[in-house]
Amino acid sequence: MSIQFNLHDIKSTLPENVTLVAVSKTKPVSDLMEAYNAGQRIFGENKIQEMVEKWEVMPKDIQWHMIGHVQTNKVKFMAPFVSLIHGVDSLKLLQEINKQALKNDRIIDCLLQMHIAEEETKFGLNEEELSALLNSNEFQEMKNIRILGLMGMATFTDNQKQIRKEFTHLKSIFDKLQSLNTDSDNYRNCQLNTISMGMSGDYKLAIECGSTMIRVGSSIFGNRNYQ
Ligand SMILES: *Cc1c(COP(=O)(O)O)cnc(C)c1O
Repeated sequence: MSIQFNLHDIKSTLPENVTLVAVSKTKPVSDLMEAYNAGQRIFGENKIQEMVEKWEVMPKDIQWHMIGHVQTNKVKFMAPFVSLIHGVDSLKLLQEINKQALKNDRIIDCLLQMHIAEEETKFGLNEEELSALLNSNEFQEMKNIRILGLMGMATFTDNQKQIRKEFTHLKSIFDKLQSLNTDSDNYRNCQLNTISMGMSGDYKLAIECGSTMIRVGSSIFGNRNYQ
């Protein structure tokens, strides 16, 4: 199946309020251009270096999403152009993003990554850490970041019940945060409208559970080859 076909196939099933991020990591620019020519404008990468290289050569109306774990010392390379950073899971990282955004005279949109999976290895905050972060003075004084919502990854399993439980959990945390939208004094840098959850294998379930942004790679571009 062609990339164009896959894209149209997926898009035709998506509710209007769900944004599709085409995850293009490891794929050549020619593949991304095929998706671009089919109308796709949002691409997700998980390595900053690779995203910068693709940004440099591709049309400038593309929105680049960083979906991988971000090292603090590399934020500066994407700060001039990144459109949304999905995997923010510490105050320290957020401070660096805020600093680099200021240098570029921008406000950078971010999602806070929550740990919802059973696996120990996945990155992300727990609820306690989330609330500590949001209630810290350091956070509330940041003027060059904007928190659009939450991101999470379910456990890598075939057990649909388990995945559903984890997605529902993330949605419930998001719902609890809605009060921040109205308490505008301390949370001027929050504008919560996004739940990034769901990948090729589980995006339909994620949408059922309230996802507004799905990150789909292999179902669009085919399997990835890692050398
Ligand atoms: C690679 C990746 C995806 C896409 O995975 P597919 O199974 O190929 O759709 C989504 N989210 C993150 C964080 C990823 O690293």
